[in-house]
Amino acid sequence: MTLKTGEAYRESLKALKLNVYANGEKIESIVDHPLIRPHVNAASMTYDLAHDPSCEDLVTVTSHLTGRKINRFTHIHQSTDDLLKKVRMLRMISQKTGTCYQRCVGFDALNAVYSVTYEMDQQLGTDYHQRLKHFLHDVQENDLMVAGSMTDPKGDRSLKPSQQADPDLYVHIVEKNDRGIVIRGAKAHMTGIVNSHEMLVMPTTALGEEDKSYAVSCAIPTDAPGVIHIFGRQTNDERKYGQIDQGNAKFGIVGGEALTVLENVFVPWERVFMCEEHEWAGVLVERFASYHRQNYGGCKGGVSDILIGATATIAEYNGTAKASHVKEKITEMVHLTETLFSGSIACSAQGSPTLSGAYLVDPLLANVVKQNVTRLIYEIARLAQDIAGGFIATLPSEKDLVHPEIGKYVQKYFKGVASVSTENRIRIARLIENMTGGTALVESMHGAGSPQAQRVMIMRQANLENKKRLAKILAGINPDQN
Ligand code: SF4
Ligand code: FE
Repeated sequence: MTLKTGEAYRESLKALKLNVYANGEKIESIVDHPLIRPHVNAASMTYDLAHDPSCEDLVTVTSHLTGRKINRFTHIHQSTDDLLKKVRMLRMISQKTGTCYQRCVGFDALNAVYSVTYEMDQQLGTDYHQRLKHFLHDVQENDLMVAGSMTDPKGDRSLKPSQQADPDLYVHIVEKNDRGIVIRGAKAHMTGIVNSHEMLVMPTTALGEEDKSYAVSCAIPTDAPGVIHIFGRQTNDERKYGQIDQGNAKFGIVGGEALTVLENVFVPWERVFMCEEHEWAGVLVERFASYHRQNYGGCKGGVSDILIGATATIAEYNGTAKASHVKEKITEMVHLTETLFSGSIACSAQGSPTLSGAYLVDPLLANVVKQNVTRLIYEIARLAQDIAGGFIATLPSEKDLVHPEIGKYVQKYFKGVASVSTENRIRIARLIENMTGGTALVESMHGAGSPQAQRVMIMRQANLENKKRLAKILAGINPDQN
């Protein structure tokens, strides 16, 4: 089977023996748990849409390994057209979920490890690329969801991994033997990990010789012995036990992140793609980051489409839709959204082949996109809250709305225009609250790396020397002189 349905994906998750804790409890079935179910629903969309003829061209593609039809989330980009279709696909799926569907992180990790292992083998004579291809074959043929696992907890940020008081604050190799390696540590902010089949571990930063035991990339089943997932809290978690108050009850807020502890996890050699080659850690981090930053104008573009729609709707429900300042603000929301999307399209169109043949986005433009997301999404959210009005912060709960004594007052006094039911006005207000609230905005800021990480890469990619040359030539200065 190369193309699972959403239902088959859910069934496959039930077969895993995951070690997941949430809210102080061990979770028996993640597929049925109220805190996790919305994230499973969102990820399921990446499977169901592969069977929808209207978006088949975006969500499915031909594998360069097998020539078979596969889900794009398991594909290695073979052209700039593949990079562009990825961005269009992300925007399209976000327009249906209004939130993160999590599967891009592993997609990006596979692409990054693919091209880097090829180059490692060329230089070092290793066989990592062949191993990765075997793993990829398995991922494509079984349509697996892979969690990209990069960010370490990092402890004292001023210290290198081996300088930390606790050596486990970065994932590291603690044993090597003839069968494989044993690793220990944890990966943080693990989007979609509790509903993924596999995790693809990568180093989190460039590493020197003294930190070579931290240079590790490998694939681990999410239910392997020693793997423990501690699910994160989100804004308004308790609301997940209800309906209307959630705003987006089916798909939830962002991706359902967890801290994943790796307590002496054994990894057989055939699943190891980097083992102490510290010189390659930085390249892998940058390549993965560029792919993941490419996404944000696509996925946040689609999420913003929903938010613009919700904002225009609440303006109608409030009776303010015709006010000129409201129209002006909605125009601005559209402008900002399309600015984000343009960046993702641009870095894809400017992509180029790596030595492995896999295509990589333009890293400078990809970092610019993500940097814009850390600002413009806040502005889009600010405009949505401005137009929606203060009542999105003071609304009573859905239990009050249906309460036998006081429900009639909630119905009466939360009414907007006469033609719209109070319940519908509350539903759209809750959607705006959900999409512009705490966890959702923080994800836009820090997902795919914090703003400063992009600024470092923007400066590294900027080629300032060449810009100085261009200016000197125009000013009549010999560019080779000071
Ligand atoms: Fe994909 Fe966006 Fe979620 Fe990242 S935040 S995994 S790019 S949907
Ligand atoms: Fe993300």
